[in-house]
Amino acid sequence: KVRTRYAPSPTGHLHIGGARTALFNYLWARKNGGSFIVRIEDTDLERNLSDAEKKQMEALKWLGIEWDESVDVGGPHAPYRSMERLHLYETYLKKLIDSQKAYPCYCTQEELDAEREKQLAEGVAPKYSGRCRHLSNEERIAFEKEGRTPSIRFRVPEGRTITVQDEVRGEVRFETDGIGDFIIQRPDGRPTYNFAVVVDDALMEITHVVRAEEHLSNTPRQILLYEALGFTPPVFAHASLILNPEGKKMSKRDESIIQFIDQYRDLGYLPESLVNFLVLLGWAPEGEKAEEEIFSKEELIDLFTLKRVSKAPAVFDSGKLKWMNNAYIKASSLERITELAIPHLAKAGRISETVRGEEREWVKRLVGLYQEQLDYVAQIVDLTEMFFRDEAAYSDEAKQVLSGEHVSEVIAAFVRQLESSEEAFTPDHVKKLLKAVQKETGQKGKNLFMPVRAAVTGEVHGPDLRESMTLLGKEKVIARLKDFLD
Ligand code: GLU
Repeated sequence: KVRTRYAPSPTGHLHIGGARTALFNYLWARKNGGSFIVRIEDTDLERNLSDAEKKQMEALKWLGIEWDESVDVGGPHAPYRSMERLHLYETYLKKLIDSQKAYPCYCTQEELDAEREKQLAEGVAPKYSGRCRHLSNEERIAFEKEGRTPSIRFRVPEGRTITVQDEVRGEVRFETDGIGDFIIQRPDGRPTYNFAVVVDDALMEITHVVRAEEHLSNTPRQILLYEALGFTPPVFAHASLILNPEGKKMSKRDESIIQFIDQYRDLGYLPESLVNFLVLLGWAPEGEKAEEEIFSKEELIDLFTLKRVSKAPAVFDSGKLKWMNNAYIKASSLERITELAIPHLAKAGRISETVRGEEREWVKRLVGLYQEQLDYVAQIVDLTEMFFRDEAAYSDEAKQVLSGEHVSEVIAAFVRQLESSEEAFTPDHVKKLLKAVQKETGQKGKNLFMPVRAAVTGEVHGPDLRESMTLLGKEKVIARLKDFLD
């Protein structure tokens, strides 16, 4: 049975790269009727942030990446937090020490740094020299007496080639001679990543490890540990890097793109469109579907294969994400987009968060006017600015239109029509009034609508004019037209 996992370190919010990794693992588990596990790798205490675990899991849930086993729901291999599994690492560490596959190392950081400096000065690739490999018992005791607490290093076998069978990259070979004996347990008893990940993946019966390319070079170390512990390694698949729009490797400080999932959520991106976008960062479906771009989660579960994960770096194209999100917004119900828009409008002070009844209906119609053009929901605030403004503000183009011939005449006629009519102020009724203005002034088409639009909205472009005016309300429309005439 397929078992995959996403194993974040709780050092920050869910990043787009992490979300993609989680998604690939999730899809592969679902496709195979397997299980998807979220494990928290929290042994790097210095880097842990207190709310990161919660935030990461909230963001995953929001994306619809649901797990079967984790810290909150438990599961057959609990606990799912590394720091609660120290006793397990201890057991396996002991096995390695007893079989001489691991040994205590007493080198201080200063000694290791000095060794490294020397190697660099000599032009050799730095690697741990193995100084503590062959310490006698007396030497060990002497170090302990000095008050040194050892870390534990794995004894890397010499002269071997380790082949990683990667689902994405094919066979990747590493020479063990290039790998120094590496630390598997820190002096304070915490395991290092490479050791904990092997014990955890093995005990949790993970069958496929899908993760970022940056971990490829850790894989031979992990394979050596699987071997030494008598575990069978999982299938590995290392997905490509995600590059920023300039084609450079992304750093967390890169400001050219928004990097965290909750930032997208807060801007009013839809989870389905993010999932759709993320999956295409370094994956494409096979065959005729390869040309398509819009996929539901169900389709993705059906289509996803590790074989189609690409080894070429993926470029993060924010424009494409906007396009895709717009497509999903257009396809959503107006009710849903309204629900998402309300907090944005409330935060801008335009409406109340608890808007209800007729006022809510009004907001819904307002959102409906702009739904088609939203790339993300937060844009509703700027787009609807003119509905909430008291004073006239004309764009340069609007000023141009308003300085044209017959403009005042058209607008004055429209004001008269509005003031003398008693009928309900609906789009149909506005249409009738404009017809009457046309008759009266002889102006039609652009010459009729543009001055009205410019005077009322301050813009020459915008959504449906009659609906806009109706939403603005008769009084405000008249006030704005008069403002212009004054
Ligand atoms: N905690 C590791 C990370 O966040 C997980 C790597 C792995 O999937 O093995 O990069």
